[in-house]
Amino acid sequence: MNAAIFLDRDGVLIADRGYVYHRAEVVLLDGVAAQLKVLKRRGYLLIVITNQSGIGRGYYGHSDVFAVHRVLQALLAPAGVQLDAFYYCPHVAADACACRKPAPQLLLQAIRDFQIDAARSYFVGDKDSDLECARRGAVQGVSAPLANLLALL
Ligand SMILES: [Mg+2]
Ligand SMILES: [Zn+2]
Repeated sequence: MNAAIFLDRDGVLIADRGYVYHRAEVVLLDGVAAQLKVLKRRGYLLIVITNQSGIGRGYYGHSDVFAVHRVLQALLAPAGVQLDAFYYCPHVAADACACRKPAPQLLLQAIRDFQIDAARSYFVGDKDSDLECARRGAVQGVSAPLANLLALL
């Protein structure tokens, strides 16, 4: 069984500028690359779980989300760390989908996909919906910044 750090994206890994979809808007938060590297070295999988309602609102498309994730990986590469997987919900709240946080579907799917031990895993988020998602997935929630998690381990 693996252990994982589940990570909200905007406001945890990169600056939350509201519906980030252009590569120039992808700005790593201070210290994130080094912190992720420490977590990776400790054996954790690093998995992003993000709500991207900008797709449902028509602001951008799936390919824009993939592009942002490629930029994010490129920004982390010099530190010698990469994220292991990205899961995102493309819906708006009114869609009443099963995957939008705080619903735990994406978290539970990742737990299955990577054979993760939830009890040894953490979810770092900057919103109540992240912490609620963590609770519903039986993963320990930690409020951003990411440094709070490192202080805990
Ligand atoms: Mg966030
Ligand atoms: Zn959804």
